[in-house]
Amino acid sequence: MKTPFVTKEKIQEITKTIPTPFNIYDEKGIRENAKAVHAAFSWNKGFKEYFAVKANPNPFILKILQEEGCGVDCASYVELALSNELGFKGDDIMFSSNDTPAEEFRYADELGVIVNLDDFTHIDFFEKSVGHFPKKMSCRYNPGGVYELSNGIMDNPGDSKYGMTKEQIFEAYQVFRDKGVEEFGIHSFLVSNTVTNDYYPTLARDLFKLIVELKEKTGIALSFVNLSGGVGIAYRPDQTPNDIAKIGEGVKKAYEEVLVPAGMDNVSIFTEMGRFMMGPYGGLVTTAIHEKHIYKEYIGVDACAVDLMRPAVYGSYHHVTVLGKENAPADHVYDVTGSLCENCDKFAVDRQLPKIEMGDVLFIHDTGAHGYSMGYNYNGKLKSAEVLLQQDGGFKMIRRPETIKDYLSTLDEFGIVDGLLK
Ligand SMILES: *Cc1c(COP(=O)(O)O)cnc(C)c1O
Repeated sequence: MKTPFVTKEKIQEITKTIPTPFNIYDEKGIRENAKAVHAAFSWNKGFKEYFAVKANPNPFILKILQEEGCGVDCASYVELALSNELGFKGDDIMFSSNDTPAEEFRYADELGVIVNLDDFTHIDFFEKSVGHFPKKMSCRYNPGGVYELSNGIMDNPGDSKYGMTKEQIFEAYQVFRDKGVEEFGIHSFLVSNTVTNDYYPTLARDLFKLIVELKEKTGIALSFVNLSGGVGIAYRPDQTPNDIAKIGEGVKKAYEEVLVPAGMDNVSIFTEMGRFMMGPYGGLVTTAIHEKHIYKEYIGVDACAVDLMRPAVYGSYHHVTVLGKENAPADHVYDVTGSLCENCDKFAVDRQLPKIEMGDVLFIHDTGAHGYSMGYNYNGKLKSAEVLLQQDGGFKMIRRPETIKDYLSTLDEFGIVDGLLK
């Protein structure tokens, strides 16, 4: 059973001033989890978690993670500018972009952040765009083939657009060295949303072996290994959540067995988790406004894919709790839908739930990462508010809902919709 981090009574209090739909985040959960991540890797002196901004770019959330010692992983101009404005500086920012425009490389260089190059040809492109190299550079690695853990094939890096081949990455570090770069790192992101404690340890061992080989062949000793994202969460109630302490232990074991004997006991471990840092600490709160009985039973809610796209895009499972009916028998089968003119706009399909009355409030779980941030404005639907459930039990709005003026703001200079912009 999955329990919302917020009670029905609290939601009733919040909806007196902030109408549904909205995403709500759990400050206490975010902080406790961030502390657990840091404890799990405390054995590594240089450890740093670079929170993937794309997962949840709300500035109040980024500030909480900053207070907990996190840096940020950015992939665009806006993410860099936002992070810089919030006081993330230099080594607090990892720029792990791909297909990167020249002006973004220039901006990243201006800010002095760590640049993680996605491709061998970007070495030339970077040099032409920026004019020089920073003292520190990172490269993204793609081993190709399929990626297998003890519990089977996880994904197919050979099909993914990211990273460099082994030959390219070995060459890249030598080119960098010749061009005066002094410090190097490696980055690799091979599988998304892994619900196994084996992913990071396996990836770490592979990368450690690779950098030992690099050192033996070229004399280049890397100073950091970035395990990137991919640590998953238990979206389904029958899944066992990852144990970050065990994951940290597993990486430590690989470190001690591969890097330490090779005399590389000074390598810092970086991570770029998004989902694991925020996923469980967000929920979409929405009210049932329609019930429809045709060939199936439908419940229409006041949220739609604009507020949470994952089910529409990936068919992802998000658990649904009908607030106040946690213990009622789940003896009805519903599709829970939003209002977009797209049949994929369904938060749940053939879901067993308690009988839903109009006005019931639904809590859609695990929307803290890749939730609000993926939203768009299809059908002219405006994005909803974000709310923070504070540590002391209070709450505050941390982003207001969009208005029609926001939606039309890029038409302000054309005089065609001025009546709506007043
Ligand atoms: C999306 C992304 C992440 C975060 O991934 P999660 O699955 O949310 O952990 C980290 N690094 C890079 C480069 C990414 O693109």
